[in-house]
Amino acid sequence: MATQLNGGCLCGAVKFTLDDTFNAFYQCHCRQCQQLTGSAFASNLFTDPDNIEWTQGTNSIKNYEHPTREFSKSFCVSCGSAVPFLNKSRSSLIVPAGSLNRFPEIRPQANIFTSEQACWLQPGLHAKEFTGFPE
Ligand SMILES: [Zn+2]
Ligand SMILES: [Zn+2]
Repeated sequence: MATQLNGGCLCGAVKFTLDDTFNAFYQCHCRQCQQLTGSAFASNLFTDPDNIEWTQGTNSIKNYEHPTREFSKSFCVSCGSAVPFLNKSRSSLIVPAGSLNRFPEIRPQANIFTSEQACWLQPGLHAKEFTGFPE
């Protein structure tokens, strides 16, 4: 039997469990993912559409679908955290890696849409490191 993973949003309104059985793990660098995450890229896991059990807070989830592109996202209306959602064609459940409380077995397999990579990603990876705020 597959290991079960728990996940949820930052404020705790939304909670779910799913099996650690993922088909893919991509880091998407497209411009839309930059805007939606406010960061350099989105880390998304792909699994079967029925591999999820919502244990709390489905009424706190709002979904956004891009009017023209194959692009959507779900988030908690209270805290804005990304939560799992079905893709537009309903063929995959897309799970934001950061919404999981534990590491899945699978590791990132590919960086996609790197032609749109944030100009500050590479310099940022080589910036000075601090364990907390800089002194
Ligand atoms: Zn929340
Ligand atoms: Zn993207």
